[in-house]
Amino acid sequence: SAGLQRASALISTTPDFPTPGVLFRDVTPLLADPRAYRDVLDAMAEPFCADGDAPGFDLVAGIEARGFVMAGGLAAAAGTGVLPIRKAGKLPNPQVTVEYGLEYAEAAIESSGDLTGARVLLVDDVLATGGTLRAARTVVQRLGGTVVGSAVILELEELKGRTLVPGCHAVFTV
Ligand code: 5GP
Repeated sequence: SAGLQRASALISTTPDFPTPGVLFRDVTPLLADPRAYRDVLDAMAEPFCADGDAPGFDLVAGIEARGFVMAGGLAAAAGTGVLPIRKAGKLPNPQVTVEYGLEYAEAAIESSGDLTGARVLLVDDVLATGGTLRAARTVVQRLGGTVVGSAVILELEELKGRTLVPGCHAVFTV
């Protein structure tokens, strides 16, 4: 659509950040634009909200930090709550910690809560290698929840994150 085309133009690209050779995509200008933010939230939710029906999820889990921005908007629109999935070291007593490998480092994400019976939609801004979203899926499962889907604003196709996160819904792909 014209609205989504306009939104995609608000994603900026910076070479050699955070390390040489990496082409960093920044969605911050898109988030600051009221129409683009609204259009992208609608597009992220679309496969999980059949017309006229209640949404197919009870909770939106967002990955720190830009995933929080999408999770809040999606949850408010759908009438659900939010589960923040934090980077390691931010929570005093995390119930679940999942470690995973990034390209040149180790990382961990954490969360807490009883998700028994909850259908969870997982969201982040960018799908790169997929390691983060796959680890987030494990966090939700260990808390007792069921992941019904995952969604991102932008998929970086050449990093093949989809192999770790099959079925991920991406609004844009580059
Ligand atoms: P992964 O490789 O695990 O898919 O991505 C690692 C984390 O870094 C994810 O939270 C993802 O959103 C973020 N990330 C990776 N590459 C980029 C990028 O180019 N831009 C932004 N904004 N985030 C990125």
